Amino acid sequence: TPATTFAGRKVALFGLGGSGLATSLSLQAGGAQVIACDDNPASMARAQERGIATADLRGADWSGFSALILAPGVPLTHPAPHWTVDLAKAAGIEIIGDVELFCRERAKTAPEAPFVAITGTNGKSTTTALIAHILAQAGRDVQMGGNIGTAILSLEPPSADRVHVIELSSFQIDLTPSLAPSIGVLLNITPDHLDRHGTMENYAAIKERLIQGSALAVIGVDDEPSRTIAARHMGPLVRVGVATQDADGLTVRDATVRGRSGEAIADVFGIGSLRGAHNWQNAAIAIAVAQALDVTEAQSDAGLRTFPGLPHRMEEVGRRGRVLFVNDSKATNADSTEKALTAFHDVHWILGGKPKEGGIEMLEPLFGRVAHAYLIGAASDAFAQTLAGKVAHTRCGTLDVATHEAAKAAALSDAPEPVVLLSPACASYDQFKSFEDRGDQFRALVRGLT
Ligand code: ADP
Repeated sequence: TPATTFAGRKVALFGLGGSGLATSLSLQAGGAQVIACDDNPASMARAQERGIATADLRGADWSGFSALILAPGVPLTHPAPHWTVDLAKAAGIEIIGDVELFCRERAKTAPEAPFVAITGTNGKSTTTALIAHILAQAGRDVQMGGNIGTAILSLEPPSADRVHVIELSSFQIDLTPSLAPSIGVLLNITPDHLDRHGTMENYAAIKERLIQGSALAVIGVDDEPSRTIAARHMGPLVRVGVATQDADGLTVRDATVRGRSGEAIADVFGIGSLRGAHNWQNAAIAIAVAQALDVTEAQSDAGLRTFPGLPHRMEEVGRRGRVLFVNDSKATNADSTEKALTAFHDVHWILGGKPKEGGIEMLEPLFGRVAHAYLIGAASDAFAQTLAGKVAHTRCGTLDVATHEAAKAAALSDAPEPVVLLSPACASYDQFKSFEDRGDQFRALVRGLT
């Protein structure tokens, strides 16, 4: 999608990762003169190779720029704002992101184009992927991206018969003043990322802006801040409740999604890629969006059933006899691991890595589900202390050893479906490049088991 808003004008861009690069190319294709920069000289060099002008914007004359475009990942609301932000503010020019460029393009070329924007503290990627999958299965032309996968400006341009399904972080909403999707989704708000957004009020206010701009709002009303936002919303609204049964839109009980008058709409039970009550919320919200886009119940149901799920989020990566292997490497904190432990019994639990504040103490009520724990990485000492006297555990050091030990023990278990679960409740950086790297290695180890 060429971004034409700044045709014939000069803009500064900071952040030359994948989406920053895509944004620069889109602006250039739209006729703007882009001067880009990045802290990382290698990123600068890569951009130059693609024909993008780069400069050290510290010394630039900012009065000539019409805007500063910030790539996602560059913190705006961080306590110590980046110097480009300070310079742009001093020059009095607007600071926006790639989603804003998309929104202006859509307003100009295809204002009726269906545009679903999804935000929330947890479940954004899963719900975005699920909505896109249901729509694609129903035969729609779907473009999915934003915070997940493809940069928004690398997608096909908006048009009346094409649906854009876009995941947005709070940060991206902040940089999108003219955000006005046809459907805005707020999944949930829990105290996370407060380091970035200061107070809970500020964090909730950013999410509320998405809702206020939406022609139709779909809100998960299981938490207090989201309920408050729903209560004062004036426009068309669908409330979706899982824990709360007083939602006037869709509710879920025992894995069955129900409509306004209690009629069963879809059954999520037994769908491996959507295990756990948190996924019922994701599924119900996806159905609400699909309904609003005139997808039939049968089509929604078919979409749910064929959803492959996302890698590293309670992803089934194999079976050996009765033993199921699950990769939940994305669980980098105890909150996420809680979701996985709740979904399984007879768990051979591989955990550890670079520890997070609070450790795994909050998981104690679920320790009864754990047959044995296998500790890896830097958190081993701390976790062994928490588990002592409550859960049998072994210090394995590496993921390799842990996977083999766990597989061996699980195979000897007489449980009907023992589960070897990698749900580390830790960051990965002590032993891996990323949570994806950790999950990929686990998948490969499972594949190699005889
Ligand atoms: P995000 O994109 O918001 O980070 P993901 O869809 O990638 O969310 O899911 C990340 C993790 O968050 C999952 O592994 C699960 O532990 C948890 N999670 C997913 N959906 C929800 C939900 N609706 N409510 C609470 N937690 C969730």
